[in-house]
Amino acid sequence: MMQGTGRPDPAIEERKDSIQTKGKQKQQLKCDTESVAGCVSQRACVYCGARVVLNPVTDAIHLVHGPIGCASYTWDIRGSLSSNSDLYRFSFSTDLQELDVVFGGEKKLTRAIDDLVAKYHPKLVFVYSTCIVGVIGDDLEAVCKAAAQKYGIEVIPVQSSGFIGNKSAGYRAACDALLKLIKPAENEKIQKNNTINYLGDFNLAGEVWIIRNYLKRMGLELNVAFTGDSNYETLKTATKASLNIVQCAGSMIYLANQMKDLYDIPYLNVSFLGLEDTSDSLRRIAKTYNDLDIMRRTEELIKAETAAVAGDIRSYREKFMGKKAAIYVGGGFKAISLIKQFREIGIDVVMIGTQTGRKEEYDTINDLVDDGTVILDDANPSELEKFMVEKGAHLLVGGVKERPLAYKLGMAFIDHNHDRKHPLSGYVGAVNFAREVYSTVCSPVWKYTGSMGGGDLYGQKDRLISQCQ
Ligand code: SF4
Repeated sequence: MMQGTGRPDPAIEERKDSIQTKGKQKQQLKCDTESVAGCVSQRACVYCGARVVLNPVTDAIHLVHGPIGCASYTWDIRGSLSSNSDLYRFSFSTDLQELDVVFGGEKKLTRAIDDLVAKYHPKLVFVYSTCIVGVIGDDLEAVCKAAAQKYGIEVIPVQSSGFIGNKSAGYRAACDALLKLIKPAENEKIQKNNTINYLGDFNLAGEVWIIRNYLKRMGLELNVAFTGDSNYETLKTATKASLNIVQCAGSMIYLANQMKDLYDIPYLNVSFLGLEDTSDSLRRIAKTYNDLDIMRRTEELIKAETAAVAGDIRSYREKFMGKKAAIYVGGGFKAISLIKQFREIGIDVVMIGTQTGRKEEYDTINDLVDDGTVILDDANPSELEKFMVEKGAHLLVGGVKERPLAYKLGMAFIDHNHDRKHPLSGYVGAVNFAREVYSTVCSPVWKYTGSMGGGDLYGQKDRLISQCQ
């Protein structure tokens, strides 16, 4: 039984190597593997991984070749913003039915592309494969190639059918699609232009624009972001940049490595989450240019921005004494930054996990957290509940799938996923984050959870009602 909760342990033997408590186990955490069958992992599917990366390309047609249900994963649950086209906000589907499964869906896909091209005249179409397409074996490459030749546009298949792996395989499928798109024409000479590509930012609530502005103030220019607020024309210039900075390494490190090998563009891992990581990332970018003027401007920016938010951060920090956080997010880079960001506002992290973290990221997480912190990869809801309660967490940071878990436990929750509507990047984002922590942890609603069916379900009433008294 789970201690003091009256609930059974989620004892799944095959999962034990993917969960550890800092200071207790010495072996490497098992990660970057397939989910254990029957565990109802919190991970999303391959197609979802691909869609995360590509959907912010604003002037593309995003056509999902599959049953209509897959297409529900669309802009409506994303917060990526556009400064121009809003074509990406549509989610098109071939709506495969039983007869298509029996006789094949290629003709239906061809007709769908024909209709969409006639109606929207796009320069770029992404065609996503889904689970059922992997089963029936439609030849996406052939259909897309024929359509591209017929219309003289880019029609790029995204090989994201299920059963080829997990969400990480979808990231890679999306990066392969992007590599096809940015490939220069044969004999085209690449003219480098001293600008920066920003990989792994999807312009949620305008976050790319915040970083673009910082770079501008440093005397640098953002070329194109992958893929927030990008479009066909801007992505086509990607090979001209002289530096790639990579925020979400889980989704984009493969693309960064490919661009380094193919186009000789070096890359830097960065994070603009939290004050410490934002300042550190800006300094490291400036340093690569070895230009005194850029370094001076960067220090001025850091000084001004840090001073502007210091008062807010301090006042929130005072309210969070003794609070404990649990984190369960998609990638390792975000988890690492969140540990530091919570430290900045005086909150301890007692449980931390990711869907797609890599070995080196878990090593960093292990170095950063205190003894006793539970670290877990590819968790299921039962495990998350167990450790959040056991460790006495006051809030959970997660995404759309974790929100109900927290609320069911009567626990504060912060959305760090793609459907949020406020930026969390940069200095302004650090204040937004602290404000969101305050508004959820210190909400008066927790005083009443004992009377809201389930508020004291796990014997946690005393802990909950003591929040921010
Ligand atoms: S691609 Fe497969 S797992 Fe993903 S939403 Fe569609 S049916 Fe579900």
